[in-house]
Amino acid sequence: MENCLFCKIAAGQIPSNKLFEDDTLLAFYDIDPQAPVHFLVIPKQHIDSAASLTEDHAELLGHVFAVIAKLAAELQLENGYRVVTNVGEDGGQSVKHLHFHVLAKRSLAWPPG
Ligand code: 5GP
Ligand code: ZN
Repeated sequence: MENCLFCKIAAGQIPSNKLFEDDTLLAFYDIDPQAPVHFLVIPKQHIDSAASLTEDHAELLGHVFAVIAKLAAELQLENGYRVVTNVGEDGGQSVKHLHFHVLAKRSLAWPPG
């Protein structure tokens, strides 16, 4: 989608610090980390947010979580981590392209702010 920051990152038009890439997904470190480990997993296909997901995205979402589990093992996040997707204004979503935050290597408070 034109003028979408994460579409541009997915297309390689804007550089990112990548951890993983395949035909459908990209994982890259967040530019403003909120934990010692903080990366994002995005579908290369533009989806506005989790609010736009349907049953047709089941395979994609399974792949997202399988990749997160693989990266967590590689990064030795055996003490745990948090996966978050913010939706809309109240959810704190600033980039309108579906993304999953993965935060780790510190104790994360609950409930979130
Ligand atoms: P949101 O607030 O939409 O849930 O998360 C967007 C995330 O994207 C934020 O954590 C922000 O730091 C990150 N971000 C914004 N612009 C860039 C960028 O150009 N590169 C990278 N790597 N992360 C970005
Ligand atoms: Zn996009």
